[in-house]
Amino acid sequence: MLEIKGLTVAYGDIVAIKGLDLTIERGEIVCLLGPSGCGKSTLLRVIAGLEPPRSGTVTWDGQDLASLPVHRRGFGLMFQDYALFPHRTVARNVAFGLEMMKQSKTQIAERVEEVLALVGLDGYGDRTIGQLSGGQLQRVALARSIAPSPHLLMFDEPLGSLDRSLRDRLVVELHDILNEIGATSVYVTHDQEEAFALADRVLLLRDGEIEQIGSPEELWSRPRTPFTAHFLGFRNFVTTDNALRLGWPVPDIPGNHVVYRPDGFSLDDDGAFEVTTKSRTYRGDHFLVVVVAADGTELEVVVRWQPVPQAGEQLRLAMEPSAIVPVDE
Ligand code: ADP
Repeated sequence: MLEIKGLTVAYGDIVAIKGLDLTIERGEIVCLLGPSGCGKSTLLRVIAGLEPPRSGTVTWDGQDLASLPVHRRGFGLMFQDYALFPHRTVARNVAFGLEMMKQSKTQIAERVEEVLALVGLDGYGDRTIGQLSGGQLQRVALARSIAPSPHLLMFDEPLGSLDRSLRDRLVVELHDILNEIGATSVYVTHDQEEAFALADRVLLLRDGEIEQIGSPEELWSRPRTPFTAHFLGFRNFVTTDNALRLGWPVPDIPGNHVVYRPDGFSLDDDGAFEVTTKSRTYRGDHFLVVVVAADGTELEVVVRWQPVPQAGEQLRLAMEPSAIVPVDE
């Protein structure tokens, strides 16, 4: 179990992490999510031992890591540039950590074969790095990180340089592999889809502090603050007062804001939302329609029904109760 208590990290006057507390259980995958500069990499670097904290503690199974240098923590790191050795074969790259641990040749060969099979690169051991595609390189880097069976695996935007469709595929594979080996993992990304696909818990950081932490479902269904709601891409963000003035439904226990999920609307002659269509954009499997209320408040609506409303058209919409989310300041 990784335990972080009262952690503060600073670069000169810039305080990058501000008194952060966090516990990560064995086998758990935690994604650090947040906008650029919020402190994700710094937090990862402190856990790895690459950056000293100004104050606070990081412990693994009760042992304070302060005096343990990077290579003695038994943690694995995987960065976006992979840092593979270009002139070594795939097998020799994967063997790197095991060689450092001075394992025997037979032990190393067996383990290399095992992890290459795990990442779907059976039979690739003799290839050189230059012969591989982006996705294969990522798998070699993963195999190299997991070969020494680290207590904790850390990832810093490992899929950042790959195109969207490859990322989507690899993130699912990575999730399965991490679960199969039961790895405790900390994964940095600024991409919420990646975080949500991978994480048991998502930690949303804002200016070096935890804004919200929870399962992907919890964050998605209950963004607690406007920052979280905005970061997750909820657009239909209305003050509760404004919603009540417009006669729109609000939750039983309202916060001071309400979010209406764009996919919760339906066409309904008795609906509470009396709006005019402003614009529509084709989005593959749906239309995103912007509608506007009498007072100028705009809403985004996912439309899968036919006919799709035209600009200027007046509509009455209803809202699924489960798609109404209270948000507090
Ligand atoms: P993220 O990974 O979320 O983009 P970082 O952890 O890299 O954020 O950065 C957090 C804050 O610390 C930012 O304000 C950044 O400018 C600052 N910072 C990061 N690394 C350094 C450094 N080596 N020297 C000075 N400031 C840094």
